[in-house]
Amino acid sequence: MLNLAIQKSGRLNEVSLDFIEKCGISLPKNKISLRAEAYNFPLQVLFLRDDDIPACVFNGVADVGIVGENEVAEKGENVEIIKKLGFSKCRLSLAVPKDFHYENLHSLNGVRIATSYPHILRNFLEKSNINAQIYEISGSVEIAPSVGLAEVIFDIVSSGSTLMTNGLREIKPAVMESEAVLIAQRNLSAEKRNLLDKFCFRMDALLTAKSFKYIMFNFPNNNLDKITKIIPGMKSPTVVPLDLEGWSALHSVVEENLFWTKIDALKEAGAEDMVILPIEKMIK
Ligand code: ATP
Ligand code: MG
Repeated sequence: MLNLAIQKSGRLNEVSLDFIEKCGISLPKNKISLRAEAYNFPLQVLFLRDDDIPACVFNGVADVGIVGENEVAEKGENVEIIKKLGFSKCRLSLAVPKDFHYENLHSLNGVRIATSYPHILRNFLEKSNINAQIYEISGSVEIAPSVGLAEVIFDIVSSGSTLMTNGLREIKPAVMESEAVLIAQRNLSAEKRNLLDKFCFRMDALLTAKSFKYIMFNFPNNNLDKITKIIPGMKSPTVVPLDLEGWSALHSVVEENLFWTKIDALKEAGAEDMVILPIEKMIK
């Protein structure tokens, strides 16, 4: 049995449960219980505060965990980062009040900086040779300047709207980019490694699928060479004749980030009636 720690409640809870379910692993829906055993995979889920996940994985209470990279970096536990999971993307940034005279990082010398991430901040300030005072606070960091706790904050930012609402301006570039990651204890038994590999195989099928689209369209047979140069497919595209003289349909996959450039090229090569679909799982 593999023990997986995820956040009990908060921003990572639902997305982690959703991710597990998309891996084809079903859990009981009981919201009260702090542990849940999957019906169809040897997996037990432990629900913890995200702050506690790195230590629990390090000391073996859990074998693996889903947690933000930010939390892993803050806690500094010696755990293995197995893979990035592509959700809960955010960044850790410094922010100053709109009227703060900020020129460069040296403007932060002598100020107080409120944060829930003192370890990451301390490393950053030392590396940047800045002498500022760190004021540790466990939540509501963005109100620290307006209530006089600190002049500057260091916190999680995603859209920046919370900063704006609180009259703060983000200092770019961010100190750290973060997303949810799968972490593992370094000395897992062979049996648990094997289960982890199986779990990862399913995750990879999901993660790969996310970066591709399924594409179908009709085209005149004369343009087959042009079209297959643009869409080479995994091995080769599937080409099927239409019930219309001189025309075929092509089915293939295309990388999401090349999507629009491919579409333009296809249109130029005579492609018509395109259908583009999301892919749920993909195993290469
Ligand atoms: P806990 O009670 O478990 O300690 P928390 O209050 O520390 O929870 P949350 O606010 O639920 O933490 O955030 C959990 C994680 O989600 C963060 O550590 C970060 O990785 C990610 N996260 C936080 N805010 C955002 C955001 N605005 N956008 C995307 N991801 C975010
Ligand atoms: Mg927390």
